[in-house]
Amino acid sequence: MGDEKVKDDALKMLGLFQVLPRLVVFDLDYTLWPFYCECRSKREMPSLYPHAKGILHALKDKGIDVAVASRSPTPDIAKTFLDKLGIQSMFVAQEIFSSWTHKTEHFQRIHRRTGVPFSSMLFFDDEDRNIDAVSKMGVTSIFVGNGVNLGALRQGLATFTQNSVPSETERNKRK
Ligand SMILES: [Mg+2]
Repeated sequence: MGDEKVKDDALKMLGLFQVLPRLVVFDLDYTLWPFYCECRSKREMPSLYPHAKGILHALKDKGIDVAVASRSPTPDIAKTFLDKLGIQSMFVAQEIFSSWTHKTEHFQRIHRRTGVPFSSMLFFDDEDRNIDAVSKMGVTSIFVGNGVNLGALRQGLATFTQNSVPSETERNKRK
């Protein structure tokens, strides 16, 4: 499937949901691209997972910001690759640094930079420990087993919608 077809499908999917995130945050290694960038050379030409570019462009078209949260120990390689792929300028925040915390620090910084509340963010990552830590902050966090794709996007949007609906107890409290 080409980038344009993926983008069209993603835009149709986004049109089906009434509540949408304001910011979608992506991990890099094994989420946007199928490798650890620390094991690669800056001179190489990287490639993304097949649906990644179409999804990024659909989100931008829909007015949803995108950001990066990566614990890569080689931010210089990661940024070179984002640049080579022609997508570096799409991200409103790029937090790329190794850390003992499971990306909670990355998300604090993204929040400070963008002003977007955690409850309005959607996050994709291939590591359970990051998903666990970040979802506890109130971010809808989706595990991806095979890179980000249209299926993961659908799951993310559906879970985001569920998380946005006040629970029965909360509704009763407001009465
Ligand atoms: Mg990863």
